[in-house]
Amino acid sequence: MPEAQRIAVLDRDACIKEKCGYVCEKVCPVNKMGEEAISIDPQTNYPVILETACIGCGICVKRCPTKAISIINLSKDLGSPTYSYGVNAFRLYGFPLPVKGHVTSYVGRNGIGKTTAIRILAKQIIPNFGDYTRDWDWEEVLDKVPVNVAKYFKDVEGGKLSIKPQNIETLRAHNGTVLDLLNELSLDSSILEEWKLPIADRQIDQLSGGELQKLAIAIATAKEAELYFFDEPTNYLDIVERLKVAVYLGDFALDKSLIVVDHDLTILDYMADYVYVFFGQESVYGASSSVKSARVGINEYLEGYLKAENLRFREYAINFGTYSPTTKKPKPYISYGNLKKTFSSFEVEIEEGSIGEGEVVGVIGKNGLGKTLFMKMLAGVEKPDEGESLDVKIAYKKQYLEPSDVLVKDLFAKADDKAILDRAKQLLHLDGPILEKTLKQLSGGQLQRVAIAFTLSMNADIYLFDEPSAFLDVEERLAFSSLIREIAAERKSPILVVDHDIALIDRISDRLIIFEGESSVKGKATPPMAKKKGLNYFLKSLGITLRRDIDTKRPKINKPWSKRDKEQKEKGEYFADH
Ligand code: SF4
Repeated sequence: MPEAQRIAVLDRDACIKEKCGYVCEKVCPVNKMGEEAISIDPQTNYPVILETACIGCGICVKRCPTKAISIINLSKDLGSPTYSYGVNAFRLYGFPLPVKGHVTSYVGRNGIGKTTAIRILAKQIIPNFGDYTRDWDWEEVLDKVPVNVAKYFKDVEGGKLSIKPQNIETLRAHNGTVLDLLNELSLDSSILEEWKLPIADRQIDQLSGGELQKLAIAIATAKEAELYFFDEPTNYLDIVERLKVAVYLGDFALDKSLIVVDHDLTILDYMADYVYVFFGQESVYGASSSVKSARVGINEYLEGYLKAENLRFREYAINFGTYSPTTKKPKPYISYGNLKKTFSSFEVEIEEGSIGEGEVVGVIGKNGLGKTLFMKMLAGVEKPDEGESLDVKIAYKKQYLEPSDVLVKDLFAKADDKAILDRAKQLLHLDGPILEKTLKQLSGGQLQRVAIAFTLSMNADIYLFDEPSAFLDVEERLAFSSLIREIAAERKSPILVVDHDIALIDRISDRLIIFEGESSVKGKATPPMAKKKGLNYFLKSLGITLRRDIDTKRPKINKPWSKRDKEQKEKGEYFADH
């Protein structure tokens, strides 16, 4: 058995001497024995944990009042890191090279080094193999890395990286129109045609999330680069747009090096040719597996076990199988009447319906058909022209979250149900330094998790969630779906969830409301219908067929020209639930 490795990381933003007087140094049993596992660096005034002296007991982790210390006892030697940011700082293992001419994907949690890997592959960061005390040059690196990695780096001139960032909201910081932005970037407005975006004269801060996402993809693909990185290109896009992105990036990759990170596994499975599984702990360390075929990589990721490496990186398997609703007719709990709203160029009609006690209803449909408007009308945020908003207590998580100067811990102090909040905090990893941050300081994924936990912690007669999966990684989506099912079983209050991630909707829903119509012109919503019937109805309207993966039971999209696709369409079985 290879020797276990130890990783000690200190979050310097969270380490505040005034709060504890360096309790870690005092409680460490190695220090008490007269050796030094923790000492205080006189220059920086921060604790330094010597990994070779530390015995991994975890006492300092438990006693640190701000949860600033992480100690990881690895079960398998990962070798030298590829890169370390410094003393007791994040480190990355592995060289997940792109497979030129194909869509290569990284699958794994957020915050475990995917962006660091990309910057190394684009030669923006020089690997230091864990020795951050000196400068390295590429000649030394080429001597040290395996032959295939050296060949890759020799072929890359470096620096020419095009990124579609995860957080597209940063684009809104540009004052002015889309055309102004394109001029600033020396790009031609014809790049908008491919994505059918007649938005050149629109103000950027007025664009919808879907328009902004497509603009960001168009900009990233228009740049000349040696390596293209698309970080979560499907957020805010509907399933048809997601498939279009998948096909487009597949064609775009034919003569390029391209890496995609996405957490919609149904789409990723459709889009990616090769997968690297990323594992590790957020802000502590990250490591990549060997390259695998997309199906094998995704299934091993869900299983938590890498077969070729003989490495278990998660104690449990992620089960993205379906939720099987009860066959009993739900007892109606909340009803809404016909609703109608008309604007100068758009109108939406909602057919009356009722939602049962403790029922979870998924709301699906293309973008621009009024799903968010439906939520707003139910919540009374938007007044319907015909019909009434619900006159009950509503907990509503909006689609776009508003960052503010409120501290996370102050927001959580307002929770109605502390037990549910604690459960949500535990499952969504919302303890520790994040509590001391303001909502403005959070990443998109952190803000989403905080909003979900807080919404669930409210006492309400109905819960409305608009696109909760945006910016969540696969494990967080799983945690969200488990929470939703648990709370639906515990409370009588029903839950409505608008989302585009078919695997998530399949996993949580009892029934479905389907939106149909012409995007940005006219939308119409059905009453809630049985899940299987609803999925079949929805997929048929899009001409897409789905089956289940035989091992993990996750939904898989059939290629449009495949035998399976043809057979299912002939049978009228657009969702083969077996
Ligand atoms: Fe000391 Fe234990 Fe912390 Fe290691 S884990 S630094 S041995 S207290």
